[in-house]
Amino acid sequence: MLVTLRTLCLCGFLFLCLEGVPKPLERFEYARIEMGTRFRIVLYAEQEERARQASQTAFARIEELDRLLSDYRDDSELNRVSLQAFDAPQVASPELFGLLEESIRLSRLTGGAFDVTVRPLVELWREARQTNRLPDPEKLARARGKVGYRNLLLNSRTRSVRFARAGLQIDLGAIAKGFAADQALEALQSCGIERALIDAGGDILVGQPPPGKAGWTVSLKVRKGEYRDYLLANQSIATSGDEFQYAQIGGHRYSHIVDPRSGQALTDSRLVTVIARDAATADAWATALSVLDLERGRELIKGLNEVSARIALSSGEVLTFE
Ligand code: AMP
Ligand code: MG
Repeated sequence: MLVTLRTLCLCGFLFLCLEGVPKPLERFEYARIEMGTRFRIVLYAEQEERARQASQTAFARIEELDRLLSDYRDDSELNRVSLQAFDAPQVASPELFGLLEESIRLSRLTGGAFDVTVRPLVELWREARQTNRLPDPEKLARARGKVGYRNLLLNSRTRSVRFARAGLQIDLGAIAKGFAADQALEALQSCGIERALIDAGGDILVGQPPPGKAGWTVSLKVRKGEYRDYLLANQSIATSGDEFQYAQIGGHRYSHIVDPRSGQALTDSRLVTVIARDAATADAWATALSVLDLERGRELIKGLNEVSARIALSSGEVLTFE
């Protein structure tokens, strides 16, 4: 599918080259609901037709990824693999396998603060948000027992996935949107579009800057009521926090992010902003730093290349890690 669309884009590009002198670049903007969120693409192109074609290629790629990675779709590759991976190793697509590899790497690095098998806990807390009642402690204990990235076994030689424990479930919610943004930008680039911004429901990835500019100005909420402008080029910025998805129960605000080690939803209302080269990294680290002990988070970010973070604590204190 991608190859066909790529060829289409290439043909369009060749046609335009043959047409003669390049025209000045114009700004185009497109939006679609994908992966349960609003994806927005802003790009600069010489011609509307080319911009439209490129954006369609990018949206098609996002849709394709959703078909692979969604935990909402019964027929997604993720759900199909999950259903059978305890009985026998399941060969996965390069996309799913790559994301699982990256997730496990992060899980190890963060000592399980980030855990791609956290889904049973996430589901209980999702229910809590809907019913406004805390999860039953017994159910919580049982769900906790089902969580553990060490039970997710990957064989990179055969690109296969195996569950060492029945009932293991995978949740790519902390990284998939970022990954989709990365892939969407690549799709635009394959169509010859370099000056582009992808907004994956608030997680932003930018390529080359708009014509004549040093970067894209991205305005993001960094604390309640406080916005900050970032000037970015070939970078991504992602935020995690309890801004939109939370349950207010018994005087506490429970986030949609769960600490897999305790089974508890986060209640400390951090707002984490991460800048990285690619969106999967920014997205995943924003979630990981929401869970991690602050000092450990600082150490880990220090050890990474081209990743920086800003954490606004509910006390009003703001920490910068780089
Ligand atoms: P984000 O909005 O990027 O911070 O991702 C939050 C989503 O990641 C949640 O809705 C869950 O699907 C998933 N999630 C929650 N807690 C964790 C965790 N500790 N590790 C990995 N994924 C998580
Ligand atoms: Mg995330």
